[in-house]
Amino acid sequence: MKVNQYYKAATLEDAYKVFIDEPGNAILGGGLWLKKINGPINKLVDLNGLGLDFINETSEEIIIGAMTTLRHMETHPSIINLGQGFLSKASGSIMGVALRNMVTIGGCLAGKYPFSDIITPLLTLDVSLSFFPDRTIDLPSYLQETGKLKTILTKITIKKRNLNGFFKKISVTPLDFAILNMAISAFKGDIRIAVGSRPGVGQLAIEASKFLSNNSQITEDDIQKATEMILKEITFLSTNAASAEYRIALAKAHIKRGLMEVLTYES
Ligand SMILES: Cc1cc2nc3c(=O)[nH]c(=O)nc-3n(C[C@H](O)[C@H](O)[C@H](O)COP(=O)(O)OP(=O)(O)OC[C@H]3O[C@@H](n4cnc5c(N)ncnc54)[C@H](O)[C@@H]3O)c2cc1C
Repeated sequence: MKVNQYYKAATLEDAYKVFIDEPGNAILGGGLWLKKINGPINKLVDLNGLGLDFINETSEEIIIGAMTTLRHMETHPSIINLGQGFLSKASGSIMGVALRNMVTIGGCLAGKYPFSDIITPLLTLDVSLSFFPDRTIDLPSYLQETGKLKTILTKITIKKRNLNGFFKKISVTPLDFAILNMAISAFKGDIRIAVGSRPGVGQLAIEASKFLSNNSQITEDDIQKATEMILKEITFLSTNAASAEYRIALAKAHIKRGLMEVLTYES
């Protein structure tokens, strides 16, 4: 990574003004992914010191600042207590502690990386993203947006529910990108299933989630039917790491296991 100029912002207003000044400028999160980018960055705007590293919990919400590291999320009681710790598990599934001590949740979401192990479980929760200046959007709508991000992600807000959660990352070794990841949340009959690294970015299985959510007594046949719906709704492709057929076989097995797990907690 070649950076022409480093800029330490004094305030969010200051950061935004410098960021939008020229198209070649970029926001610095943990800098881990930026480091991999070949193209030169004109001005790198550092958000450190702007008070964006926090996790706050209220009776209704968990609010996470954009500069919060994955390690902070993995080990924070508010995240551990949510859905049997499925989001903490997802955070902890990425590389080693040294990397997780630097990678920020802001960088993970701003990048919309197709292999993301964080986006998939977040999709099964009610999550909104706040950007400076003055924009709030829900996660699924944000993921639909294309083009370069022209605002600064400041925080993510998770609506608290006493839900059951499941997360699974399948990779060749623990340090590899997922060849498939999957998350399920269940709260009083509201079941949400998301699949990521297909190799596309995490996607909610809307039809299958609706089918299961409308079902008061879910049987093995229902799980089978929901799995078939997911395989129709969500695209699985071949890459060097895994064939589409293999991804489908993994999805079939782990959707069933995940559903059985969250439904056992529910009953
Ligand atoms: C070796 C390696 C292995 C990895 N393996 C995995 C893996 O297995 N699973 C997985 O899910 N992830 C993996 N990642 C990705 C990692 O989890 C992060 O998503 C990634 O590093 C970006 O986070 P960052 O804090 O480093 O962001 P940066 O590199 O600083 O920024 C990434 C992008 O986001 C922009 N940005 C950052 N913060 C903001 C903000 N607040 N507002 C607006 N734009 C912003 C930057 O300008 C840049 O375009 C891996 C990364 C590396 C380097």
